[in-house]
Amino acid sequence: MSEGAPKGGKRFPLSLDKALPATRQGGAVRGEVLRPQRHLQLAAEDAARQAAPSGLGLDSAGVRQRMVQRLKQEGLSDERVLQALAHVPRHQFVDTALAIQAYEDTSLPIGHGQTISKPSVVGRMLELLFAGAGARERGELGRVLEIGTGCGYQAAVLAELSRQVVSIERLKPLHDKAVLNLAALRGHRIRLLYGDGKLGHAPQAPYDSIVAAAGGEDVPGAWLAQLAPGGRLVAPMAAPGGRGQVLVVVDHVLIGGHSQFLRSTQEAVQFVPLKSGVM
Ligand code: SAH
Repeated sequence: MSEGAPKGGKRFPLSLDKALPATRQGGAVRGEVLRPQRHLQLAAEDAARQAAPSGLGLDSAGVRQRMVQRLKQEGLSDERVLQALAHVPRHQFVDTALAIQAYEDTSLPIGHGQTISKPSVVGRMLELLFAGAGARERGELGRVLEIGTGCGYQAAVLAELSRQVVSIERLKPLHDKAVLNLAALRGHRIRLLYGDGKLGHAPQAPYDSIVAAAGGEDVPGAWLAQLAPGGRLVAPMAAPGGRGQVLVVVDHVLIGGHSQFLRSTQEAVQFVPLKSGVM
């Protein structure tokens, strides 16, 4: 991953030859490697123009290291997760006007009523995934399904820690934004899909890790069906009694050859709602 400032017009993560328009396949819409469409090209030019001004010091690794130090003091302890957070340039996933806040531990608007999650919350979810039996054994998250691509930031962090990431977004403009943001990584280990993530993505199942960035009433059955034995799912869900949201962890274990899903509830969280269908 390059961290180049916009000098000479090149900047992480733009790489137009990998921008993927979407094609329909079954209910979901699947990205294919095609020549970039005009609107993606225009959006890329726009993004390049809006690149965070140099001189803010945001391209230096130091600014991310300081964020990671603060996250450590607040309780994140998994070195692999901290390293991944130290590596991904979060300021390049948000609008220029917000770039200066990118390394504060805060969620930020990404348009269309959605937000990029706080780094501490991204870190916490990844630590929970790593604490699952399969990930502990492998030392990495394996094949990951992410629901709620948003601007693609968490997908980029996941890509640092896993073999492959499949990420689904239901809002087309955000899917397109993530395609551009992640162009430098795409084709390697991140597959971006436009579709309803409640359905998961059966063609590439099972997944060793499943993580959702939007919270619903309960864990959709498709996610459980697509979770590999030994795999772990982490998602925000409505708290019992309907008061706010909590993080829910589900482990798929085999007992006497039979699948069992062991569920535990963690701390209270605040995520955008998990919705149905696409827009
Ligand atoms: N991980 C993201 C956070 C995005 S916020 C990032 O790093 O930026 C959560 C996202 O979940 C929103 O973009 C929202 O549109 C999306 N979402 C909500 N319900 C969904 C669904 N059923 N399928 C796919 N995406 C969904």
